Amino acid sequence: MSAQTKGEKVFRGIAVSSGVCRGKILVLHRARHLIARRELSDAEIAVEIKRFEQVLVKTGQQVKEIQRRVVTNMSAAEGDIFDAHLLMLEDRVLIEEVIRMIREQKTNADFAFHTVADRYVAALEQVDDEYLRERAGDMRDLTGRVLDNLLEVKDALNLSRLTEPCILVSHDLSPSTTAQLDKKFVLGFATDIGGKTSHTAIMARSLDIPAIVGLQNAAEELETGDYALLDGYNGTIVVNPTDSTLFEYGQLEKNKASLDEKLREILWQPAVTLDGKPIHLSANIEDQHDVESVIAHGAEGVGLFRTEFLFINRESPPDEMAQYEAYRAVAVAMKNHPVIIRTLDLGGDKFVSNLQLAQEMNPFLGWRAIRFCLAQPQLFRTQLRAILRASAEGNVKMMYPMISGLDELNQANALVEQCKAELRAEKIPFDENLEVGVMIEIPSAALIADALAKKAKFFSIGSNDLIQYTLAADRTNEKVSHLYEPTHPSIIRLIKLTVDASHAHGIWTGVCGEIGGDPVLVPLLIGLGVDEISAAPPVIPEVKYMIRRVKMAEAQALAAFALQCESPSEIYARCVEFAHQIAPSLFENKA
Ligand code: PEP
Ligand code: MG
Repeated sequence: MSAQTKGEKVFRGIAVSSGVCRGKILVLHRARHLIARRELSDAEIAVEIKRFEQVLVKTGQQVKEIQRRVVTNMSAAEGDIFDAHLLMLEDRVLIEEVIRMIREQKTNADFAFHTVADRYVAALEQVDDEYLRERAGDMRDLTGRVLDNLLEVKDALNLSRLTEPCILVSHDLSPSTTAQLDKKFVLGFATDIGGKTSHTAIMARSLDIPAIVGLQNAAEELETGDYALLDGYNGTIVVNPTDSTLFEYGQLEKNKASLDEKLREILWQPAVTLDGKPIHLSANIEDQHDVESVIAHGAEGVGLFRTEFLFINRESPPDEMAQYEAYRAVAVAMKNHPVIIRTLDLGGDKFVSNLQLAQEMNPFLGWRAIRFCLAQPQLFRTQLRAILRASAEGNVKMMYPMISGLDELNQANALVEQCKAELRAEKIPFDENLEVGVMIEIPSAALIADALAKKAKFFSIGSNDLIQYTLAADRTNEKVSHLYEPTHPSIIRLIKLTVDASHAHGIWTGVCGEIGGDPVLVPLLIGLGVDEISAAPPVIPEVKYMIRRVKMAEAQALAAFALQCESPSEIYARCVEFAHQIAPSLFENKA
């Protein structure tokens, strides 16, 4: 059915990046293998066998290249996984069986290989031995790669080939794919899975692209070429919008223009409450180039530089010089404003692209962030040296992600001291007083904040993770998004505990998770005593607008209410009511 003959249809998901856009849809399908049997002529048989053997060689080269990158970026142990793939590629029994089938049944190589490999996978899945059962996964991986090559499947998610503006619809978009989005061609995007604080969603906000996640089945139901309107305020995508829908959304765009006007008026004003309490307002960045957006949106520093994005979408990790240049560029551009560089937080939903890392059962609970860095001291020290060197050229601070206890903090600090000693010996300048802070994003860290505060210069609450770990609700899983509640009493109490512990030890606490960028929650955070807020650059003006409309006494009353209330939805409702009361213009576009 063509788009013109279809009526209006509305799909609802989770709004993750505000704005409205309209245009043609481009559905990105994951590569699938369509394997049909084809009868070969006698003359074709030898050619087909040769083609199969060449593909095995080509696949072997690809696997070796991946293995080389894994060993460089991760460890020799991770690289060993690919030895199993290489062994399977050289398995003469399997190869001979495929060749026999091509020859005897006169069938194409993809069909023969698929048939034989599938039998191997099924047999491995049946065995009683856990090690062999795990090899079934390796075999499936490898089979997919060989079939990609036999069928010449190119990367179906290669976004560099876009030539006209579109709304992307996909089952999923990884952060590394999102990092390649070109705003010229991507008006907005919508995915079937994902949560509000998945890194893909966070990147959409940084890019200022309207986006929706958690649509469940849009990638199946929508077709490339359909005309649609994507509403990133309310989380809907309207396909074949009627004239009256388009009219309604025209109004929404007008409201947005008038709000933008109001926000422009306060762009260069300080982030200070109505009764004069300054709140340090900084921005989160993923890339050194985001710094332009930080300045343009009136932020007073960088509260979180997610350095892992320097590591993705490239062949090998950046060396000390490349990292130093990136950190230095941000420090210099921000002049005297603080720039908080977070050390590497790979893992969870952020992987180095093109690397087939070992799949973990629970990646968010696994080998990520500081755990990974402490196990890879060489990689970590390279980054620490680069940050230290950049500290000579601006107001640089550093913080560690995912600290769960004192040991990790002590180990990381010891490495910093070693790097400082090296730099001193090499006569390379750095800031001897570089302030080192701790992200509070694991409940255990919040609960021992008083101990951590003795060894840190500041705290930054990573609410995205703190919420997921406290409530055991995966931040990327739309099926549990109803449990992912920023105003759950446990979260409010953990924030309060952290803030109080920091103040008792004379240090400050910021919030760099996404709750800091939600104007509805800003008064609550201020009332809880948070000293700094860091959010995606495009939402900075709204956050500032809200800060400038709050009185401390009212914010503290809101916090006092939240601290004694047992219901997340009641706390949220009170926050909404208060925010609408003091800053109604911010919410005109929300249903
Ligand atoms: C957080 O967890 O809130 C945070 C800021 O870190 P990230 O989103 O990069 O995990
Ligand atoms: Mg985090």
